Amino acid sequence: MQRRSFLHACAASSVLIMFRKQLAFAKDPVPAPVKITDPLLVPFAGPYGGVPPFDKAKPALFKPAIMKGMELHRAELAAIVANKDAPTFENTILAYEDSGRPFGRANQIMATFTSTMNDKAMQAVEAEMAPILAAYGDEVIQNEELFKRIKTVWDARASLKLDPDQARLVDVHYKNFARRGAALSKASKQRAKEINEKLAGLYTTFSQNTLFDEENQLVVLDSEADLAGLPDGLKASAKSNAEAKGKKDKWVIRNTRSSVDPFLTYSTRRDLRQKVWKMFVSRGDASGAHDNKPIITQILALRAERAKLLGFASHAHWNVDDSMAKKPEAAMALMMKVWPAAVARVKEEVADMQKLADSEKANLKIEPWDYRFYAEKVRKAKYDLDENEIKGYLQIENLREALFWTAGQLYGLKFTQVKNVPVYMPDVRCYEVTRANKRVGLWYFDPYARDGKRSGAWMSEYRAQETFKGAITPIVSNNSNYVKGKAGEPVLVSWDDASTMFHEFGHALHGLLSNIRYPTFAGTNTARDFVEFPSQLHEHWLPTKEVLDKYAIHYKTKKPMPADLVAKIEKAKNFNQGFTTMEYMMSALYDMRIHMLNASQSAKVDPGDFETKLFKEIGGPKEIVMRHRPTQFLHIFGDDGYSAGYYSYLWADTLTADAGEAFKEAGSYYDKATAKRYHDTILSVGNSIDPADSFRKFRGRDVDTNALMRNRGFPVTK
Ligand SMILES: [Zn+2]
Repeated sequence: MQRRSFLHACAASSVLIMFRKQLAFAKDPVPAPVKITDPLLVPFAGPYGGVPPFDKAKPALFKPAIMKGMELHRAELAAIVANKDAPTFENTILAYEDSGRPFGRANQIMATFTSTMNDKAMQAVEAEMAPILAAYGDEVIQNEELFKRIKTVWDARASLKLDPDQARLVDVHYKNFARRGAALSKASKQRAKEINEKLAGLYTTFSQNTLFDEENQLVVLDSEADLAGLPDGLKASAKSNAEAKGKKDKWVIRNTRSSVDPFLTYSTRRDLRQKVWKMFVSRGDASGAHDNKPIITQILALRAERAKLLGFASHAHWNVDDSMAKKPEAAMALMMKVWPAAVARVKEEVADMQKLADSEKANLKIEPWDYRFYAEKVRKAKYDLDENEIKGYLQIENLREALFWTAGQLYGLKFTQVKNVPVYMPDVRCYEVTRANKRVGLWYFDPYARDGKRSGAWMSEYRAQETFKGAITPIVSNNSNYVKGKAGEPVLVSWDDASTMFHEFGHALHGLLSNIRYPTFAGTNTARDFVEFPSQLHEHWLPTKEVLDKYAIHYKTKKPMPADLVAKIEKAKNFNQGFTTMEYMMSALYDMRIHMLNASQSAKVDPGDFETKLFKEIGGPKEIVMRHRPTQFLHIFGDDGYSAGYYSYLWADTLTADAGEAFKEAGSYYDKATAKRYHDTILSVGNSIDPADSFRKFRGRDVDTNALMRNRGFPVTK
């Protein structure tokens, strides 16, 4: 089966890390002399060591809570600066680490509402708060007295006899201030602040424009003839889409990936495939009030100007600086190592599809809206494998049980549903996670699509693990957009969707199994090109025989997936890998190349022209477009999070593929010793150790990038 591992928008890409990047302090309890009563600011109360107060939150409460939280944080920072004693690790670094906790809590709950229930009221709050938060982030970074104290500790770090995680804490905080302009002149600081505020507003506009097109554009199917080729499940969800949109006796394909991709795979109506495909790849691209093209140019120009102010050649050079790759050129080198193999594989795939189309006398040349359709036909012909047949074995609730089982086998975790905690929607569930009867944390599960929910799948962290101020257990969630079926019927998902569930759960485990001292280092708060490693690795457990035998149970026959189907899945593992790798690589290369432009180039760049020219230059196949075309590329234009960072999935996948081979060498994905070593060296250490060092501890050597080529079935070159 194809690996999609590196494609899912998630966890760290989403809201949480955005706030962490912007407000690196925003997460931690207050030693407050002030009495706090706001429910969004107080430490989580209730069972299981405290739970997020979703029942007390509503859009109107966010602004006052966040403004109050900001005041509290300001007072804490003022106290650090006013300290008459010389700066020390305790009175400066630890005091800073411990600051901003109420502020962080309110922000996190707001982020949950913004990403899962973004209605009109929340959109207004988001639009109002984004520039205020950006400005506050700058206020902190530009606090000269605070930076001076941090720098004094950093300068003296060698003589302070700090533990390794403490020394790293000093370094991480110092560098975060320095690389974001704490040492700039007054005028440059003012300009950086203006830029960040403008960017925050533009990100919100970009995201809301995309959401507008996703919610307001649709393709209506009028008659049975328009449903030709669609499997029953897809017809049913098209019907319920229509009902939700008030279109009786019709069917509706929504402008979201989970609605569009299956249609493109199965519809035998080429005219409708083209129509649906065009709608989907044109999100944010139409001229008019919701056009994202001018927004992109403004974002690029401002980012490049900011990079120049901060002393970097481009936004890419600035943003890759604190990742594992360190330089954009290193990321480009990895991508260009994979590129020729992907191009060659796409050529083979297109030739196979064309041959099949010709044999059917279809009288067509493969176009982008034909790719999924003919790929599926080739899959059936070559591997006798039918996506739909597999789907019958993949029920969402069984897969969830499978996730729990893998976590039990590998790390000794147990999940128990609890109902005495507040949730923000009735179909969100919460599970207590324990190990040897001791609480490890909480896991929330929000599986279904709804209006106002960000598309894709992701993990969020509501509270980070730490031992710094008491044993605080982590609280995480997995969110996705599976289409709810009829009441009482099991929700069946594709192999890809199942793989995504394992992926997001990998992020959740990274958060849950965190065992560090300082919250800055907790769980997924690692370098961007490292964070997708544990998530992608967990996908490797889905195709294991143990999981499929036990949990891939057919929804009608109640029988497990037959051995010959499992064998076929294994055999077809790298099928369509050209397409999967290519549509991702096109997005990743675009992201890196456009962010490597300097300030004057960025100011006049046309995002569409750049796309056309880039793929002409490097020979992008015309049968495939970017997985996320520029005007809908939320990872890079919806916030700063993954800009010049979409390559991270590929980078992390080199670690994933190599770590996967470690389990294979041990003889099983359930090998206890390997799982323990992985737990101890990777999963539990968060960012308290340099990621390259923790990988070395796990593997006994540096990463072997050829493992990535092997995993995708590409020829291994030097
Ligand atoms: Zn991910």
